[in-house]
Amino acid sequence: MDNPSLNENDIINTGSFDGLLLDILMESILENVNIVNKKLQLSDTTDVIVKKSLKRFFSAKSYKNSIADFLINIDEVSNLKLKYYKKNGLIINKSDYGANQRIAIDEHLSYLNENGLNNRFNQPLRRIIYSNIYAGKSQNELETELKTFVSKKETLSRYIKQAAIQGADAYTAVIDQKITDKYIDKITGYTMVGSLIETSSPQCKFCVEKLKRKIKKEDWNSIKAIATGNGLIEGTDFKNLPTNKLHWGCRHQFTPIID
Ligand SMILES: [Zn+2]
Repeated sequence: MDNPSLNENDIINTGSFDGLLLDILMESILENVNIVNKKLQLSDTTDVIVKKSLKRFFSAKSYKNSIADFLINIDEVSNLKLKYYKKNGLIINKSDYGANQRIAIDEHLSYLNENGLNNRFNQPLRRIIYSNIYAGKSQNELETELKTFVSKKETLSRYIKQAAIQGADAYTAVIDQKITDKYIDKITGYTMVGSLIETSSPQCKFCVEKLKRKIKKEDWNSIKAIATGNGLIEGTDFKNLPTNKLHWGCRHQFTPIID
């Protein structure tokens, strides 16, 4: 059995979110406009309309359920990790990491609450509604433009997925870090999990391509030499790779190995 890692696609299901937000937006807009000669006229400000829409989206059952499932999923990965480590003789208790896990995920959950969604989407949505209505566009034209923004680029789903993945990663990395802290004398290296993209940092590319994802203690100096000046967080060392990772915004996971 390998150390369980996060599978991005299993963390959260964002499948219906774009359509849901679009439906809610159109509904809220139509509640607040008069249609005169097939053209729209607002009876409330775009700020009120968008805020109301995002509140409805956030309160929608499917969104709430999906966030609840997300929390269950990351707890499951977390428990599998504990089991895996225990099987290999590495044991930590909930009291060692519970508080850290809560701190780790709180920030990311705030991106997924009503305020978080509002901060990210209020402005662009208002701009679209405002400019279409004052240009005298029809309901269909407004809907098409909203759809282009929300659905075609998967703006909302991508945002929610990304925040969820970052939160899940921070949550489970706490366990990898606590194991590393407690058994640092036994840890001989890390397995690096996660894919490369075109813009991956040189140090991440080096670890995946040259080191084949196995980072041994003796590799650290050459990795550090590449990483310094390429976004390495100050104070990063071999011993805190699970939480510091290889640079700001690094989405790789580092799970400790004992040979
Ligand atoms: Zn990385």
